[in-house]
Amino acid sequence: MTTNDELFARGQAVIPGGVNSPVRAFGSVGGTPYFVARGEGAHVVDVEGRRYVDYVQSYGASILGHAHPAVVAAVQAAAAEGSTFGAPTEREVLLAEELVARVPGMEMVRLVSSGTEATMSAIRLARGATGRRTIVKFAGNYHGHADALLVAGGSSVAEQATSDSAGVTSGAVADTVVAPYNEVPPLDEDVAVVIVEPVAANMGLVPPADGFLQGLRDACDAVGALLMFDEVITGFRLGVGGATERFGVAPDLWAFGKVIGGGLPVGAFGGRRDVMERLAPLGPVYQAGTLSGNPLATAAGLTVLRELDADAYERLDGIAGRLADGLTSAIGGAGLDVQVPRVGPLVGLFFGADPVTDFVTAKVSAETGTYRRFFRAMLDRGVALAPGPYEALFPSLAHTDEDVDRTVTAAAEAATEIARA
Ligand SMILES: *Cc1c(COP(=O)(O)O)cnc(C)c1O
Repeated sequence: MTTNDELFARGQAVIPGGVNSPVRAFGSVGGTPYFVARGEGAHVVDVEGRRYVDYVQSYGASILGHAHPAVVAAVQAAAAEGSTFGAPTEREVLLAEELVARVPGMEMVRLVSSGTEATMSAIRLARGATGRRTIVKFAGNYHGHADALLVAGGSSVAEQATSDSAGVTSGAVADTVVAPYNEVPPLDEDVAVVIVEPVAANMGLVPPADGFLQGLRDACDAVGALLMFDEVITGFRLGVGGATERFGVAPDLWAFGKVIGGGLPVGAFGGRRDVMERLAPLGPVYQAGTLSGNPLATAAGLTVLRELDADAYERLDGIAGRLADGLTSAIGGAGLDVQVPRVGPLVGLFFGADPVTDFVTAKVSAETGTYRRFFRAMLDRGVALAPGPYEALFPSLAHTDEDVDRTVTAAAEAATEIARA
């Protein structure tokens, strides 16, 4: 039998760190990563046959759970018809129509292949449309790995020695301004766009403070800057119309990814018609992609979106609520200080007594080291949380009450073990 240790060793010989995205190497929690052999709904099974209740769910790209039968069938049928053409296809139009119909205020959208491409292209568009250079982002928000956005990022970037990356020139970030999350920053007329995660989900889970998003809208309007919501996580997860609908604040531009690909590589960026019409071939802002609007990915994305009606979100909310309440009492009951923030279907987990409202307070919690111990104790008990303290939990529609209850039981045991040590 192939083991996780063996695959990790072989992987490290030919792939930097043995992984194709840094967080997967378990650097911040220690140990050997499990190599997934297959996923089934709320569970993943590793190459050694160990089964885990999975709260990673591809960092939110999976919302129905793994290998949902309707998605499998749609992708199989699409593959049989050819997987990429370099010509437009019907499903691209259908997916774009579906996205535009759901997000209040979004009039046009372009499909790309990842969240990184979505934010990167939308930033270029914002600069091209406004003729301005400065972009404003918030500390602890992650927008993918485009150079200009790789400053004070959350997610596994937060584990780097500095939050910047080597190889990003000072020129590439010279026009990026970083502000603390949950405070409306001062803006001037050089600002092209303010990009924000409307619910921060890459420094753990940090909800927007009351008035923060509306404050950004007003501040952008006052100086003629564009506002972009990076809804790569929140889009089509917080509800039918994502964060825009939930908080009643509409930006000028949106970035999407994760959920809309149904587990295949898709991103999208959209906005008001007058802004989007600045894109090539209509306008002067260039953007393109060989696999953009890919037939397999659009098949998966459309299938997932069709399952996501108001009723599905209500069920997901119920699952997340049961999980958050259960974790709060299990961990708190064992005598550990814990915060379990929740925004609808999104759940966070911070150890420590103080509320987390921004990147500074998120780091205080992460640096207690308790997450690492908790992660390991949960993994031993067959529950897979994200292997880093700056990620959220992603319950899916496939998580049953039994899955959640098993998780809560494991959490009580894990927390008791940690409290005793
Ligand atoms: C995951 C993520 C991205 C980047 O998406 P990729 O598909 O990994 O390139 C961008 N923004 C947010 C908020 C994300 O969570």
